[in-house]
Amino acid sequence: MLDWTVPTATRRTLSLALLGALLLAGCTATPTNRQVSLPVPDGTSADSSQPTAQREHARILASYGGVYENARLQATIEKTVELLVAASERPDLKYRVTMLNSPAINAFALPNGHLYISRGLIALASDKAELASVLAHEMGHVIARHADIRAEQARQTAIIGTLVNDVLSDPETGALALAKSKLTLASFSRAQEFEADGISVGMSARAGFDSFGASRFLTAMQRNADLKTPGGGGEARTVDFLSSHPATPERVKNALVNARQFSGPGAGERDRADYLADLDGIVYGEDPSEGFARGRRFQHPKLGFTFTAPPGFALDNTAQAVLGLKDGGGEAMRLDLVSVPAEQTLTDYLKAGWIENVDAGSVEEFKINGFSAATATAKGEQWSFRLFALRFGSDVYRFIFAAKAMAAPSDRAFRESVSTFRRMSLKESAQIHPLRLRIVTVRADDTVDRLAKRMAIADHPLERFLVLNGLTAHDALKPGDKVKIVVE
Ligand SMILES: [Zn+2]
Repeated sequence: MLDWTVPTATRRTLSLALLGALLLAGCTATPTNRQVSLPVPDGTSADSSQPTAQREHARILASYGGVYENARLQATIEKTVELLVAASERPDLKYRVTMLNSPAINAFALPNGHLYISRGLIALASDKAELASVLAHEMGHVIARHADIRAEQARQTAIIGTLVNDVLSDPETGALALAKSKLTLASFSRAQEFEADGISVGMSARAGFDSFGASRFLTAMQRNADLKTPGGGGEARTVDFLSSHPATPERVKNALVNARQFSGPGAGERDRADYLADLDGIVYGEDPSEGFARGRRFQHPKLGFTFTAPPGFALDNTAQAVLGLKDGGGEAMRLDLVSVPAEQTLTDYLKAGWIENVDAGSVEEFKINGFSAATATAKGEQWSFRLFALRFGSDVYRFIFAAKAMAAPSDRAFRESVSTFRRMSLKESAQIHPLRLRIVTVRADDTVDRLAKRMAIADHPLERFLVLNGLTAHDALKPGDKVKIVVE
């Protein structure tokens, strides 16, 4: 992450060390500087005695925030799948659906019929026809056996996919976008995507859903992706369903052409009121129990720590690490945690090759708010690094600060940032709540602007309100309409 432009072998080693700090070796795919083997977080490490499908399931859960439990939504999704199955060419196939506790906009299917759908995607959809279009698309991949034997074999080595690091070529957004782009399924071909779209529209229409759900949802997804906001809410930068499922204008156009073969707009079921009622109260955006940033401050209630990044930094929480980038891109940081044996000193740890080119003479041990810590410097070709390792509970927290030009003020700011690392109080942890979707009824005097002001989102609330509700700035709201807003 921190070493974007060094062109030699050094680059590979160093950037992999940085990128892959929490990416334990989990598969045998050959890493390049664009692809890193999959993360296998503690507790879900690959056990070769487990069946592949079970391993994949564990990896997916680990990468997408675990299961999102919501009985009402789960029932709606299962009912939708049931209707689709009955209308499909393969009513004999069985599906299982897992909701993922992830703000990303994502859905995918394993060849065994296990479907996954993120709560971020569920929140973006505005009716059951849109939901059905996504589920039917994934079922379409299963029905058409797109994940054929060859893909299945590929999966066994590169299981779900690879870390997509094309974003690295754009250092300004690269660091922040990085781990958001972590796992994508082995991509299907463009032709397969179009085929799945075609199957989806037909299946949805025969199941009684409005066949324009796909074109609406693809449009919503594209608009959501266009809300690029460095340092903002997070999901907009996500490289996810879009990367494996490009919502190109062409795909939207195709979905429209397909839909018109079945019916005119408004013919099928949308069931918007029921769907929105299902969404009321669901978690929106990052789940703070897994760590979150508010401005420069990062808090992780579950792990029980907080710290504040140096001035000018925007933070992004990812499954593997907390990443930070300073305005202008000249400085960056990464925080992750690892297990280090209690008998290994932090000095030894820093010298032991966590990253290359550590200046052994620079290592010093000290205390941060009662925790043992050690620091050192390291030098790459274009970046200089200030490293910290800090023991907290049974883990070691690793901070890497990087600067293109490591002057004294930067180094001081890095030290000051680490000195803010401390344990959160129980009271602090108890006060943290996620953002949630609320379904509200439009009143006679409501306007788009007024409703957008109720959004508990500082970053482009109006645009987010519009995208979330499938509205444009010119759309008039009718009293009695139901809309989604995001609240504390
Ligand atoms: Zn697809």
